[in-house]
Amino acid sequence: MKNYEEINIQLLQKDFFIYGSYTQLLNMVYKGETIEISDSEWKVLLNEWHYFILRRKGTERAFTGKYYQNKEKGIYLCSGCGLPLFDSSKKYESFSGWPSFFEPLKHPDDQALRIREEMDISYGMIRVEILCARCGGHLGHVFTDGPPPTHLRYCVNSASLYFVNE
Ligand SMILES: [Zn+2]
Repeated sequence: MKNYEEINIQLLQKDFFIYGSYTQLLNMVYKGETIEISDSEWKVLLNEWHYFILRRKGTERAFTGKYYQNKEKGIYLCSGCGLPLFDSSKKYESFSGWPSFFEPLKHPDDQALRIREEMDISYGMIRVEILCARCGGHLGHVFTDGPPPTHLRYCVNSASLYFVNE
């Protein structure tokens, strides 16, 4: 575990950051609210590495992130705003070197999707970028080579996630 992957303590203490026990986070309902934080504020709140990934759409090198091998049971929050995004039961080994999930987290009472998708044509490829619906933080990309039942692969930067153990 390297220091640059650690979340800023002051971010965790911010009012907008969703935090709680595993059960609280799992039972959280997303009503579709968004938060608006200026780029200069993000620069202060996030450490340099998280800022680069989340706000500058960076990509960590494969097999270097904190969570690609994580097999613990728990919940993955957005490392920018704390919105619960993925549950360990939907994580699988894709051998891509990034944490991979076949389905995002969804509470039956959710009023909006927690992950927003956008077309990404950078680097001469056509890909679908995934972003946190609440804070707009860059998460990674979604591909259609995942396992059943969804056949989707949500390929996410470890730095875009914050893991809360069950
Ligand atoms: Zn977020």
